[in-house]
Amino acid sequence: MQIFLTYDYELFFGKPTGTVEKCIIDPTNLIRDIAKRTGIKIVFFIDVGYLKQLVAFKDQYPKVSQEYQLISQQIKDLVNEGHDCQLHIHPHWEDCIHDGSDWVMKTDRYKLDDFSDEEIDRIVIEYRDILFQHTGKKVFAYRAGGWCLQPFDRVRSAFYKADIQLDSTVFPNGKFTEGNYYYDFRGCPDKGKWKFTNDLIQEEKEGSFWEYPISNYYYSPLFFWRLFALGRLKPEQHKPMGDGYPMPSPGLRSSMLTQGKNLSASVDGFFVTKLHKVLKNNEEKGYNEMVVLGHPKATTKFALKKLEHFIVRHKNKHQFLTFADLEL
Ligand SMILES: [Zn+2]
Repeated sequence: MQIFLTYDYELFFGKPTGTVEKCIIDPTNLIRDIAKRTGIKIVFFIDVGYLKQLVAFKDQYPKVSQEYQLISQQIKDLVNEGHDCQLHIHPHWEDCIHDGSDWVMKTDRYKLDDFSDEEIDRIVIEYRDILFQHTGKKVFAYRAGGWCLQPFDRVRSAFYKADIQLDSTVFPNGKFTEGNYYYDFRGCPDKGKWKFTNDLIQEEKEGSFWEYPISNYYYSPLFFWRLFALGRLKPEQHKPMGDGYPMPSPGLRSSMLTQGKNLSASVDGFFVTKLHKVLKNNEEKGYNEMVVLGHPKATTKFALKKLEHFIVRHKNKHQFLTFADLEL
């Protein structure tokens, strides 16, 4: 199995957004330590809208300048250590400002589909360029913010113009269309990867782009009861390190607790306990790829410990890769 550990490198988008140290810098340093100890490399999907606004406000406010120094240095460190920094777009940053003490989030236009054709082209190309200025490495892989990349035909021309070759947004059977979100991955190919051109979830053998879907898993209601209880009973081990709040996902929590939920395979918090089952499921389905999603802001001490165990246990039998290792 080719295993890709991927972290979306970003703040929270609710109120408050959380601090750069607690949401990004400190947890990412702990993840880097695990990578050093185990000798593996990780994909970081950098929220480039955030990077753009750090650049835009850094000369105006000392607080932002300091935040920018931390982020730009850590991205350099990640690249120097051989990690793969790729493009993650949360386009609502276009509408956000800093007021000198905090980021002021506005998430009405949360997905690229909320922007005009010209704006979509401009955003994807501009963000690709900003990321390249910070990494000096080819930017070719993409993950949409909040899994929102449909309808893909609105973004296709931007992918061509920005020379994006690989997407890792889909997770099989995922669907959520409430609030600012829209994604529906039901009926996607039953494969570890596929090529597509016009529709993310429609395989085309000679397609222009690769989809490396995030693996999925059905988490039972009991799983979520445990997860929420552990956060309260043992916060030291199970409380996320980030100090912000997410953007609302209407109805999600109650459906988790009553029906369970099909979500992406994840290294965040208690989700990490299902990694071995995800690996087994993917093996049984005959897949050669397993993509796992995480967020530095949502990691916990427990999750990091379990992740390291997982890597140590499997790194000889399986390959832990980044997208930059692939020959596309
Ligand atoms: Zn994100």
